Amino acid sequence: SAKWSRAMGIVREFQDKCDSPIGKLRNLADAMTVEMHAGLASEGGSKLKMIISYVDNLPTGEEEGRFYALDLGGTNFRVLRVHLGGKDKGIIQTEFDEVSIPPHLMTSSSHELFDFIAAELAKFVATEDEKSHPFPGRQRELGFTFSFPVRQTSISSGTLIKWTKGFSIEDAVGEDVVGELNKAMERVRLDMRVAALVNDTIGTLAGGRYYNPNVVAAIILGTGTNAAYVERANAIPKWQGPLPRSGDMVINMEWGNFRSSHLPLTEYDDDLDVASLNPGEQIFEKMISGMYLGEILRRVMLKMAEEAEFFGDTVPEKLKIPFILRTPHMSTMHHDTSSDLKDVASKLRDILEINNTTLRMRKVIVELCDTIATRGARLSAAGIYGILKKLGREITREGEDQKSVIALDGGLFEHYKKFRQCMESTLKELIGEEASDTVVITHSNDGSGIGAALLAASHSQYL
Ligand code: ADP
Ligand code: MG
Repeated sequence: SAKWSRAMGIVREFQDKCDSPIGKLRNLADAMTVEMHAGLASEGGSKLKMIISYVDNLPTGEEEGRFYALDLGGTNFRVLRVHLGGKDKGIIQTEFDEVSIPPHLMTSSSHELFDFIAAELAKFVATEDEKSHPFPGRQRELGFTFSFPVRQTSISSGTLIKWTKGFSIEDAVGEDVVGELNKAMERVRLDMRVAALVNDTIGTLAGGRYYNPNVVAAIILGTGTNAAYVERANAIPKWQGPLPRSGDMVINMEWGNFRSSHLPLTEYDDDLDVASLNPGEQIFEKMISGMYLGEILRRVMLKMAEEAEFFGDTVPEKLKIPFILRTPHMSTMHHDTSSDLKDVASKLRDILEINNTTLRMRKVIVELCDTIATRGARLSAAGIYGILKKLGREITREGEDQKSVIALDGGLFEHYKKFRQCMESTLKELIGEEASDTVVITHSNDGSGIGAALLAASHSQYL
């Protein structure tokens, strides 16, 4: 029918715009490398902030003692206690508590958010017995994973540049987040010191390095997306301080804010951006990460409903609600292997109250999932390839058998199988046959929490 072909026209146009052939990905990787250089050259030199983390030593395996970690940066909030046994014993025990962040706190005041965090931390500490206290007479020490763009002023302090991923708390911007946490901990009389302020990428890098010395970069694909990697300190023109003895400096790229004319953007991306809490920012993140993929799908479906009556002569009311369709829903539909696509049918029915879909319609929905996930996965692979190029590790050099291991983590990477497979195969495609064995991707499961505890250990006041 005419309506069906109008709907298919919308789908085809969307797919054309999302296309990311290998040549485009190479251009993107090169653009990423160029921006990395620019961001390292001067403060504000690029959309990529290339933040100096003050982490110039990564875990060695010799870390010892009991340390805490706190992970804030998206959907969930976690508190951990890690017992490190040193060289021979490794990690003896990890205990953790996880709570989802009450949504109203994400747009409340700094005071309220940090009070909540400190209270959860105090609760966690209150459950422990005497013998799990780090050391009698010593202060407890914490690695604070705060996964938003922070201008670091030392290993244990930094000011919030801006919020991302649906958080928006005006009065915290420009404030020292460790100072805010310290004040809140004082309010609940919790005697604990922040030994290291990091984000999830740096935590994951540290956690990955603990197990494997060849880890050179870490990528998060979760609610948001970001990357960190080990740079040579003398390759950072904007670094004014003394060169660290290791010669290394970990850089937090904040790659979610990457932008390039080579990005395959569509009208749906533009509309999503305009309607977001941070218009004009985090464009790369908005094409890739878990917070947004389902929302892109909703927007395409809404357009098909409005302009081609795809779901009947009225537009389904639920389909008009931003962010109602989450990426895990999209992932379930995408992975539906049943002959009648019953999971697609039930998601459409349960979430969007769209009933009576035909198999042919459901197939179109699966195709849309594939288009959106494939684009995101291929773009992430291009970003990783850009980092490898910056490090000169995208090719195997004569006589060298260096391995480059990239630690990945985040709910999107962990749970969205087709996304992950596509990302890995695209990276292989970019690297090519000869060098494909020298680049290895590992899932650094919960590296960020353990990594923060490890960094607290190596920056302890008692060393
Ligand atoms: P965060 O990034 O908030 O710290 P996670 O790394 O756990 O937390 O990532 C959570 C995100 O991962 C969710 O917001 C969601 O977008 C995505 N996600 C979780 N489960 C799935 C799933 N089954 N399929 C696809 N994406 C998922
Ligand atoms: Mg996380």
